[in-house]
Amino acid sequence: MRASQFHLFTLKEAPSDAEVVSQKLMLRAGMIRKVAAGIYSYMPMGLRAIRKVEAIVREEMDRAGAMELIMPMVQPAELWDETGRWDKMGDELLRFKDRHERDFALQPTSEEVVTDIARQELKSYRQLPKNFYQIQTKFRDERRPRFGVMRGREFTMKDAYSFDRSEEAAGRSYDIMFAAYKRIFDRLGLEYRAVAADTGAIGGDRSHEFQVIADTGEDAIVYCPDSDYAANIELAEAVSLLARRAEPARALAKAPTPGKATCEDVAALLGVPLATTVKSLVLATDDVDEKGKPAGVTVWLLLVRGDHALNEVKAGKLEGLKAGFRFATEAEILEHFGCKPGYLGPIGLKKPVKVIADRTVAHMADFICGANEADFHFTGVNWGRDLPEPDQVADLRNVVEGDPSPDGRGVLAIQRGIEVGHVFYLGTKYSKAMNATFLDEDGKPKHFEMGCYGIGVTRILGAAIEQNHDARGIVWPRAIAPFEVVVCPVGWGKSQAVRDEAQKLYDALVATGVDAILDDRDERPGVMFADWELIGVPHRVTIGDRGLKEGVIEYQGRRDAEAAKLPAGEVLGHVLERLNQG
Ligand code: ATP
Ligand code: MG
Repeated sequence: MRASQFHLFTLKEAPSDAEVVSQKLMLRAGMIRKVAAGIYSYMPMGLRAIRKVEAIVREEMDRAGAMELIMPMVQPAELWDETGRWDKMGDELLRFKDRHERDFALQPTSEEVVTDIARQELKSYRQLPKNFYQIQTKFRDERRPRFGVMRGREFTMKDAYSFDRSEEAAGRSYDIMFAAYKRIFDRLGLEYRAVAADTGAIGGDRSHEFQVIADTGEDAIVYCPDSDYAANIELAEAVSLLARRAEPARALAKAPTPGKATCEDVAALLGVPLATTVKSLVLATDDVDEKGKPAGVTVWLLLVRGDHALNEVKAGKLEGLKAGFRFATEAEILEHFGCKPGYLGPIGLKKPVKVIADRTVAHMADFICGANEADFHFTGVNWGRDLPEPDQVADLRNVVEGDPSPDGRGVLAIQRGIEVGHVFYLGTKYSKAMNATFLDEDGKPKHFEMGCYGIGVTRILGAAIEQNHDARGIVWPRAIAPFEVVVCPVGWGKSQAVRDEAQKLYDALVATGVDAILDDRDERPGVMFADWELIGVPHRVTIGDRGLKEGVIEYQGRRDAEAAKLPAGEVLGHVLERLNQG
């Protein structure tokens, strides 16, 4: 490829609404162009990188025995009704009507369509296992599209769906996908972690996210440097930080804490560690009777230590809260606690509430909590003595750095990650809802055991850049780079010798299968270098008259501090060697 023929378009400054570095650099490098919020054109430079990711994903999916198909972007409401997701999905599902007033949606994912295919075409256990995948445009009307291609509304996803005879066989399909994902992210040259993830209503432990490590990631991932424990913070188990509850040592007392409505402020005022305070969070559930009619409200008081944070995913799994909870209204709080938020606690309630204590809180003695009276807190609070034992003790909090690992083998560390892939065992959730069955060996119909497996193809570009960039621009891993090598002739318009040498090197690179570009724009070196460093091409060769007279050509790796002068005859070998290093 010659740069003069390619559509090269770079910007000195990113548009002011670009928030994160990957988005800024992709816009500046001319890889994407914004059309509407979360909706982008993939420009030629960006598309080259996308195609490279797709090719690796496709190769590894094929190698793992999955079969590629394409399901429609536009999907009929009837299928989505069968699983109830037409109603349940919320506003992320973009719904619209055709000219006949029939309801359709743009696919955010394709469980319904693929399960419909399976129930029509997979009749016998002999056809199983099967895994269908597509690399297709998805649309999710995200509440907050942001960070460019990382949280778009329209984006490209690889989604695969496995169909198996039994749970055991589905486990094998899952393991095969897990291994394929490892190969994919290894080949892409990204630093990543596979972490255990929440399985929601499906349950079990077969859900893993593949997270690219980057400080700007939206996810917190928890891992143990001394073992292979790794989990999304949503799931990571928080153990009690106190082995057992100490005997009460202090008397219950009420301390004035005027205007101090947070644990931090109270601890500072009283001059005690934050870890001696307890935070009150009030939730509510709207109860229904057997007929599904509203039957009042239950108020829940969740207690976590002052320096800990409530984990809403964990709360959402507790008995009583599973069916859905919300934060209590100010009126509900007043009615039950007789006090406004900021001074709430489990002692002296106006009306009964269900008290759930975090494991650590249940082991605390002589702690501090709100007194249910504005501007007052209790100190020296002890379970059993000053208030009844909690109704329930549960893991309610996010783990924090330094917590003991739940596998008992060291302490936990936390880092940020960008979720680029997800493997998930679905069980019979969709096959039951859509009555998708096959005939098993015993001649009886059986529901398919399913799994689904996503990879955010376009998000990978953003994640790769978040992980690999510097002040000058993108630093692509070779596997994703839109071009692997750029040949920069200095004085293209003036010097026949430079033109010949540049063309010769370019031809030789292409002949060995290298994806190279020849910058024949006749630009000054500074302009060429700035462009290619911004675009992130991993290897650059500069050919100029002065060097040629001495028989040398300059090579610079994108991560190298300085260019190296090499004898002209050794340049090709050197570039190939560096390419092989990744
Ligand atoms: P998130 O928690 O980031 O919203 P998700 O759990 O909704 O992700 P999945 O439904 O598992 O994501 O989708 C599979 C993959 O698709 C994700 O791992 C991610 O890489 C990608 N993906 C999801 N939503 C988006 C989006 N809005 N823009 C770009 N890629 C996305
Ligand atoms: Mg999502």
